[in-house]
Amino acid sequence: MELARFIRSIPDFPRPGILFRDITPLLGDPGAFRSALDALTALARDSGAGAIVGIESRGFLFGAPIADRLGLPFVPVRKEGKLPAARLTVEYALEYGESRLDIHQDALAPGTAAYIVDDVLATGGTALATAKLVELLGARVCGMGFLIELAGLGGRERLGAYAVEAVLRFEEA
Ligand code: AMP
Repeated sequence: MELARFIRSIPDFPRPGILFRDITPLLGDPGAFRSALDALTALARDSGAGAIVGIESRGFLFGAPIADRLGLPFVPVRKEGKLPAARLTVEYALEYGESRLDIHQDALAPGTAAYIVDDVLATGGTALATAKLVELLGARVCGMGFLIELAGLGGRERLGAYAVEAVLRFEEA
């Protein structure tokens, strides 16, 4: 299936100069959504994952069903202040300012092979911060899977220490 036609590109959202890749047409088409999940599930399975880590919030839409299909634990990485139990936090730089991500301290046993999932890879800052959280818990990153890679924003290069895979690749300015 030609999945790229289910991604809608919206110029100047949420800010001027950003070409936003909207996945809602894909989510709204059961065949396309299933096909995207099939592709990401195969990547996660081949990585030897022992857990799936999804990045809030669109990473949950893919990460949780992949975990269910593979019979693996699903671990949410959330924006600061949303997780209720004891947690670890990392700070990371955004284009303007900074942000924080949290993980529960008991989310991954040491040594667990964690596969990180998100919808879009742009600069890679969010995925890199998530990898740091996984490693702070003593687990290891066995790979990262994205529905869409925005090539040309340096994400793949920034994540050079990890096995990065994407179902779709768009050339971005
Ligand atoms: P990154 O720059 O790789 O840290 O991306 C930050 C987050 O914003 C990721 O979770 C992406 O899902 C999202 N994101 C970044 N750029 C776009 C874009 N052009 N369209 C849709 N989502 C984006």
